[in-house]
Amino acid sequence: MAINMKYFIGNWKMFGKPNSINILNKINSFIKTDKKYNKKYKVVIMPPFILIEQFAKKFINQRIDIGAQNCFHKDKFGSNTAAISPYMIKAAKSKYVIIGHSDNRSEGETDLILKEKLNIALKNRLKVVFCIGENKKQKKKKQTLKVLKNQLTKVLNKKLDPNYILVAYEPIWSIGTGKIPSFNDLVKLSKSIRGVLKKIFKTKRKLPILYGGSVDSSNIKQFKSIKEIDGFLIGGASKSSKKFIDIIKNYYR
Ligand code: PEP
Repeated sequence: MAINMKYFIGNWKMFGKPNSINILNKINSFIKTDKKYNKKYKVVIMPPFILIEQFAKKFINQRIDIGAQNCFHKDKFGSNTAAISPYMIKAAKSKYVIIGHSDNRSEGETDLILKEKLNIALKNRLKVVFCIGENKKQKKKKQTLKVLKNQLTKVLNKKLDPNYILVAYEPIWSIGTGKIPSFNDLVKLSKSIRGVLKKIFKTKRKLPILYGGSVDSSNIKQFKSIKEIDGFLIGGASKSSKKFIDIIKNYYR
């Protein structure tokens, strides 16, 4: 089954305060007026935890969904200081959650922890954006494919609901650096990721594959012809309504 829907997902990281809702208001207004293309894409913004509920309530039945940037690996309530469970994220009306972002992997998230997070997130009917990606050293040693395969097979399995999983390929060396992979590498890697997912899930359903890492309004067009890329996880450029809107505009025009 072909995927027609494209995803533009903004990861705000440690950015935002209550009045940053103005950024979402502008993006939402743009999407409403973008009648020619707005049925072709979905926008998700992932602010810090403290803003999720306020933003999600405001944008119910609007054109933006809200997501969380991470979750704890235990569910419901617990005696874990500062932890936020998938259950709490869902209760705050978030629809998505990132799992396995390299910022968090680098702080000690193991595959086992990621597996637990994924299981609990899916149990709470959150859509998971599962991040994978190689670092600079691994790329230099030509280990990229091996690393990605490992990250996928260690955490995903065919018992998980593929309708609730998006995979984001985010090369660590590309995040926040202005560097992006070559066109040929992206074609090759996105096809390989598709192949690995097909083997894991044994289903005709295609999980969306996103690209993330220094996406901006000037390089976005380069991704358009890559068939296997179904959307983008956007960090820095998602913190400005203009930059984020320009990414969508330039992708389609
Ligand atoms: C990210 O951190 O997920 C990311 C893609 O960041 P940036 O777009 O700033 O490279």
